[in-house]
Amino acid sequence: MIVLLQNAQVYAPRYLGRKDIWLVGDKILRVTAPGEYPAGHPLVEIISCDGLTAFPGVIDTHVHITGGGGEQGPASRIPEICAREILQAGVTTICGLLGADRQTRSLKSLLAKAKALECEGISTFIYAGSYEVPPVTFTGDIAEDLLLIDKVIGIGEIAISDYRSSHPSVSDITRIASAAHLGGMISAKAGLTVLHVGDGRAGMLILDRILRSSDLPVKTLLPTHVNRNRELLMQAVRYAKSGGNIDLTSGEKAGIPVAQAIKILLRKGVSSERITISSDAGGSSPDGSVCEISALYEDIISAIRIGIPTELVFSMVTQNAAERIGQSAKKGCIEPGADADILLLDSEYNIQKVIAMGKEM
Ligand code: ZN
Repeated sequence: MIVLLQNAQVYAPRYLGRKDIWLVGDKILRVTAPGEYPAGHPLVEIISCDGLTAFPGVIDTHVHITGGGGEQGPASRIPEICAREILQAGVTTICGLLGADRQTRSLKSLLAKAKALECEGISTFIYAGSYEVPPVTFTGDIAEDLLLIDKVIGIGEIAISDYRSSHPSVSDITRIASAAHLGGMISAKAGLTVLHVGDGRAGMLILDRILRSSDLPVKTLLPTHVNRNRELLMQAVRYAKSGGNIDLTSGEKAGIPVAQAIKILLRKGVSSERITISSDAGGSSPDGSVCEISALYEDIISAIRIGIPTELVFSMVTQNAAERIGQSAKKGCIEPGADADILLLDSEYNIQKVIAMGKEM
């Protein structure tokens, strides 16, 4: 079945101008000049995109899909996220993870929830591990988790510089990240180690020590929540300028608002390619409030509204995010052969349609 998205303004995320996007099943077949019909394809459905702009579906690399929280006792437990909430936020791909609590939440339920969301059209991946070191795994071995469990693409979020962490040492993190990296190599996956950076005094300093004392490639580590405060963001500037990737957290409670954080990073000379943004949805703030997935899209639009170029902001939650999770051939782009995950927005950036794996949601 062929679906034609006709005459959309396309950001792939690079701006392509007006194009027709041809979908077949769950894939993008072609991106052509408007009105250029390839022969031999029976046309089944035309969706007029006059006045609409097409972007790749957003990738949220950090979602507590089974619910986080619980740090203020049982009453503060956060429930599971639902598919509708995710899709309404323009997100078509998510990475699920545990968090502080691996005692009452398990990797098995994380995997089951990821599969359940996939049944509803959302592409899902998960990380093994939780805040704690040594990390919880499915098989007892990080590399084997990557090799044997399809959805596992890495490990995290391992907490550093946080009173809720298990205060891992340089060698703890080096060993974990090395195992994830090796697992990623033998399974052709990202092999990423996501590091939750708390507001502890040392901030991200442990990362410099890990990289100085090992041969670990810098790209295997992804520190997140780096916009938590000004001091941490300045550490992130130095880290990103030496080649490291950094992840900002959306929402009012994240610290420095994402739009402002991006502005600071770019002004300080950080390449936009080093930056991703994720929602931490289902996670809890120290005051007990809950991070919402909708905040990610709101922050993307805020960043555009303060003058950061549209394609640059969208790259952070599409192309860059896809690259981090080892999915750049399939996700985060509008290109022939990629998965048909597409957002159609009106001129005010309101989401008019969400297409996930070729299906209009
Ligand atoms: Zn976190």
